[in-house]
Amino acid sequence: MWYKTDAPQKAQEKLAPEVAVKNFDEINAGLSEAEARFEAQRCLSCGNCFECDGCFGACPENAIIKLGKGNRYKFNMDACTGCAVCYEQCPCHAIEMIPEPINATTNA
Ligand code: SF4
Ligand code: SF4
Repeated sequence: MWYKTDAPQKAQEKLAPEVAVKNFDEINAGLSEAEARFEAQRCLSCGNCFECDGCFGACPENAIIKLGKGNRYKFNMDACTGCAVCYEQCPCHAIEMIPEPINATTNA
């Protein structure tokens, strides 16, 4: 894995209920700048490709083709062996593996 995605959410300090009911102070204390930066860098595994190049770099068959910034990638299915390395290492689960359709017709 090129990315560490298992990072816990930062907990915010909160006013105790018995204190909160006696004033109008913010109940949630918020995050410090360092904590906010950490939160912003946590991967939420949202399923959207963010063009990290992990699959592109990991594919042993060079079957993944970069389409340029903002255009993501395409897969050369003629070169792909279905090894699932790209799928395994994708930090946000943007790649789905599906069974290859079996051609029912045979040449007898
Ligand atoms: S599909 Fe996953 S591994 Fe590949 S570039 Fe996108 S986020 Fe990275
Ligand atoms: S399944 Fe394997 S060969 Fe196919 S694109 Fe992914 S890493 Fe490359």
